Amino acid sequence: MEPRKAPERLPEKPRRGLVLVITGDGKGKTTSCLGMAVRAVGYGMKVLMVQFIKGSLHYGELDGAKRLAPEFELLPMGKGFVGIRGDSLPMEEHVAAAREALALARQRMLSGAYDVIILDEVNVAVRLGLLDVKDVLALIGEKPANVHLILSGRNAHEEVVRVAHLVSEVRSVKHPYDQGIEAEKGIDY
Ligand code: ATP
Ligand code: MG
Repeated sequence: MEPRKAPERLPEKPRRGLVLVITGDGKGKTTSCLGMAVRAVGYGMKVLMVQFIKGSLHYGELDGAKRLAPEFELLPMGKGFVGIRGDSLPMEEHVAAAREALALARQRMLSGAYDVIILDEVNVAVRLGLLDVKDVLALIGEKPANVHLILSGRNAHEEVVRVAHLVSEVRSVKHPYDQGIEAEKGIDY
């Protein structure tokens, strides 16, 4: 059998750093971000994913990310569910965690050390009032021209949608949860 030829590579072009929003009520937002991280790491690009709200439960991507280290860094900086599922933390703690996560993401974005910055569930943090949308818009405004910035989470704020280059809305057509099927390892977490 003929040895398979290496796939063709597209010609290099100067990078145009984009603002991408992945929103909607269907499953596939965080995993879309992880997919782009895998893709970027393939070119040796440096990717940081900061997770808002998430931080108290284990997800497969926490260990999956380690396999893509040092190019991919995943930092869960949330305190878990906000106001539901037995959450007894004072709101101020959720707010402080979200602000700290945004400040860290901003500082890393401006450091010049990253090609892609992902703010996972940041749209939810805004929707729940943990973050002021003005602060998120300010961060978007400061994005260096060569950095890609991805904001995920349902119910993206209209102002964030307005300034983004790409907005994809994942629409739920069916979900196993509606059929009484609980979350599956490797698929949902
Ligand atoms: P994933 O992390 O699988 O890409 P997501 O980021 O799009 O999901 P989130 O809103 O962050 O979705 O919720 C994460 C969890 O909620 C996942 O376990 C996911 O399967 C589940 N989920 C997402 N959409 C729905 C839905 N429409 N009905 C029930 N559960 C859902
Ligand atoms: Mg998600």
